[in-house]
Amino acid sequence: MPLRIAHRRSAAPKTKDRRIRTTTTRREARREAAAAAGRCSSSGLPRSGSSTPMGSSPNRSSSSSSSSSSVSPPPSPSDRQGRLTTTQLEQLRVEQEVYGIYRLFHGVAPHTRSFTLELWRDKHIEFLTRGLKQLGPNYHVLDANRPWLCYWIIHSITLMGESVNSELEDNVVQFLSHCEDKNGGYGGGPGQMPHLATTYAAVNTLITLGGEMSLSSIHRENMLKFLLQMKDSSGAFRMHNGGEIDVRACYTAISVASILNVLDDELVTDLGNYILSCQTYEGGIAGEPGSEAHGGYTFCGLATMILINEADKLDLPSLVDWVASRQGVECGFQGRVNKLVDGCYSFWQGGVLALAQRLLLIVHKQLESSFISGVQASAECKKSCNFTAEETGQDENLCRAGTSHPENEGEELSDFGFSFIGRHTECGPLFHSIALQQYILLCSQVLEGGFRDKPGKQRDFYHSCYCLSGLSVSQYSWSKDDGGPPLTSAVLGPYTNLLEPVHPLYNVVLHKYYKSHEFFSTL
Ligand SMILES: [Zn+2]
Repeated sequence: MPLRIAHRRSAAPKTKDRRIRTTTTRREARREAAAAAGRCSSSGLPRSGSSTPMGSSPNRSSSSSSSSSSVSPPPSPSDRQGRLTTTQLEQLRVEQEVYGIYRLFHGVAPHTRSFTLELWRDKHIEFLTRGLKQLGPNYHVLDANRPWLCYWIIHSITLMGESVNSELEDNVVQFLSHCEDKNGGYGGGPGQMPHLATTYAAVNTLITLGGEMSLSSIHRENMLKFLLQMKDSSGAFRMHNGGEIDVRACYTAISVASILNVLDDELVTDLGNYILSCQTYEGGIAGEPGSEAHGGYTFCGLATMILINEADKLDLPSLVDWVASRQGVECGFQGRVNKLVDGCYSFWQGGVLALAQRLLLIVHKQLESSFISGVQASAECKKSCNFTAEETGQDENLCRAGTSHPENEGEELSDFGFSFIGRHTECGPLFHSIALQQYILLCSQVLEGGFRDKPGKQRDFYHSCYCLSGLSVSQYSWSKDDGGPPLTSAVLGPYTNLLEPVHPLYNVVLHKYYKSHEFFSTL
């Protein structure tokens, strides 16, 4: 288990992120690439989120979703060497690799495609369980993240409907107890200072294990004191004593407080305004005011706002628009504009859209409101031109948009997470859920077990956790009620691929969440 990490004297150099940000947009890069292949369209390339048929990149074939011969390959990066930026070249390389995988997939006989799309559960369980017992020397860099390793691994195993044996479970509970600070919160390892990120990971792990010993090992009173210590006068939270203030800290603090039933007004004060100040002109949410919109922070920001019942303060239509537009030609999500596709955003971005699916009432009200504002602006103009108010046709009732969700009226703060998951969804997914499953199964899944960021990358526990979480969110994206079994058409590949549903606000397997809710609501 990550409780034991073998150390060695000289560490392997940490892989550096060689991707760079450029001023040229991703769309421009693709347009240039398309022009190079003699197939440039004047309108640029369409988004994949709206109409990608499985296996057919939306910008490459509009008429045939089944014939791979009609799909033109992307230009080779070597064709353009020296004329494109590093990021553009990387993008073309990834597109080529993904294209090769999808071409291969569509080349196999239809009856064997299901086999190709299979989730290799046994291999994943083997990879994950091995990591829980013993990690190699390269993992020493994660010495301050050991509760995270517990969460990534145990959550992944639980998503696949399995559990660890009682000896391993006891070991994990004991290990996390050693990470718990006597004044509240969990550190990255025994004796380390408490930190909100590892506190979130430890609490989610213990809830996922779900036994009496596990749940009762969390000292909630001390936890509340620790969370209050991390609260800043701005309304936001800092990651640890003297640490950075950001949206991630806000989410981990509120998620922990909500799931443990200790969320109170003091923790919530001014928090919504801080998150709101992090929503950018793009529509997504940044880590802190003035930064760039990012998928991980957008999830953290939106989930926090829902948990404190202030989601209506955000500009939800533009937020949804930004996230939906991050699903690219590879069928997976990117984390930011101009960045490459990455499997972990299957959850960070896919999770945002799973949340937004239950906020459509507010989205519609905001759209109506902006429409009315437009009408009012137009009416002002008309008035100045001597038109009467009646002639503008305004309906004042429609102007009352932007209130908190009506279903939450009269509820306690800690109940918002519980009632949210019970909401009926009236629409299908706000992204191409089958395309995303295709990317996860064909491009992120490693046949020896585990998942990776993208083809060419190594598997790891973090990406295994968030690819599987994203896969679950996709599979249930057509379900109208919480955790109801999806139709076979909603699950790509054999139906045995179906995972357990998650509570998208906490990313905890749903039946484990319900058990913990029952436990903590009676304390
Ligand atoms: Zn990633």
